[in-house]
Amino acid sequence: MENTTLYPELVPIFQDIETIIGKDTYDMWLRPVHFVYENGTLKLSLPNQFWGQTIRERYHRTITDAFLKHLGVNITIIYEIQPQSSAPQRPDFVVPKNEFVSRLNSSYTFENFIESESNRFAYKASQAAAYKLGARENNPLVIYSSPGLGKTHLLHAIGNEILKANPSAKVLYMSGEEFVSEYVESIQNKESDSFRKKYRTLDCFLMDDIQFVCGKEGCTKEFFNTFNALFESKKQIVLSSDRTPQQLQWDEWDERISSRLLSGIITEIKRPNLETRIAILRQKRDSINFDIGDDVLAFIAEGIQTNVRELEGSLFRLVAYCGMHSVVPTITIAKELLADILINEQTLTININVIKKIVGKHFSIRMEDFNSKRKTQSVAWPRQIAMFLATELTDMSLPEIGREFNRDHSTVVHARDLVKEKINTDPFFTAEINQIITEIKAIDKK
Ligand code: ADP
Ligand code: MG
Repeated sequence: MENTTLYPELVPIFQDIETIIGKDTYDMWLRPVHFVYENGTLKLSLPNQFWGQTIRERYHRTITDAFLKHLGVNITIIYEIQPQSSAPQRPDFVVPKNEFVSRLNSSYTFENFIESESNRFAYKASQAAAYKLGARENNPLVIYSSPGLGKTHLLHAIGNEILKANPSAKVLYMSGEEFVSEYVESIQNKESDSFRKKYRTLDCFLMDDIQFVCGKEGCTKEFFNTFNALFESKKQIVLSSDRTPQQLQWDEWDERISSRLLSGIITEIKRPNLETRIAILRQKRDSINFDIGDDVLAFIAEGIQTNVRELEGSLFRLVAYCGMHSVVPTITIAKELLADILINEQTLTININVIKKIVGKHFSIRMEDFNSKRKTQSVAWPRQIAMFLATELTDMSLPEIGREFNRDHSTVVHARDLVKEKINTDPFFTAEINQIITEIKAIDKK
């Protein structure tokens, strides 16, 4: 991290983070980041939104854990985008003075949402909700999907579309988490009346990730009252969730919420197919105007199948890397740079015993040798390789992997780094490892 000289006491924390996530990753994502640390708040200043997104999704937990371990403080991380030196971007439409608007992200629109078979119904229903606010047949609209498939995008697009037609419309976008924390705050500050009022006057309420509200007693009740008040006065309600309305766990005291939710339109966004994934990447590429070939886009789209956020994040990671090093993006660079994501996508389910079995066969050692205390090189080296492969091919944490080998997580970190180093310097060894990985995947598929 930049400016650690101002905070010598934090240096061991960042060293720890570097050890855990690996030097290359640290150099790429964290080292260039400027920060300020004060009273348990770490403010990160980031070159762009995607950088922030990457750190938030991948390293947020590692950073907070490291601070907790060293300082005993549960820190808050604030992500800030550095102001651009170029001319400020003009929004697509004139932003009206409207206290609710600030929560809407004007870059999520219907125009830049790629419509496809996997999301067509959700897309059309969102448009219908925006054009015919509060119409009985579209109310409430519930969109659900697994993460990263466009729910938040559609909610913002609805809000932006409504404001385009009527800049003074009262549209509120809010996540379930925000609703919960505002509710708790309003109780603490004895302001529940104004809290209530704010919601009841809306024309359209867009609540993202509603699963966060479930099971939080008073809050669920407040949500339900808000929901009813809006619904009864024919105001538009749009909700998103990471599970079906039937799977949401409401308090037992009220079955009514779930039946109300089921009374409107419920639509799922499914995973996009290959053509759609390529179309999404093309559109993102064009929007940032970066020269990157269709072959590279197709390679990324083939490798990342489950999550559009990851798909997009990978593209921007590649763009950031190539921009920084002034090189043209190629499949080879993409393969190397995105190896961690591509491998994860394909092999989340790989079983550690399969890794041990194949590595054991390859080096002629027995299963029990992986867990034994024996330190002779003929056993220790294959064991280290198996640990490295477990870090690459499974989604287990370092301590979990350690346990599988009867060791602690620092031994796993050491093994991983040793093997990585060898891979970086010895092409014959790399070929051997690739061969082992292919065998592991072949067995795991059976
Ligand atoms: P969710 O809320 O379902 O987790 P998001 O709406 O945050 O997902 O989508 C993740 C990212 O993927 C966003 O940047 C969004 O713009 C993009 N995205 C998802 N689906 C599409 C699509 N069909 N067309 C264009 N971009 C999409
Ligand atoms: Mg979302």
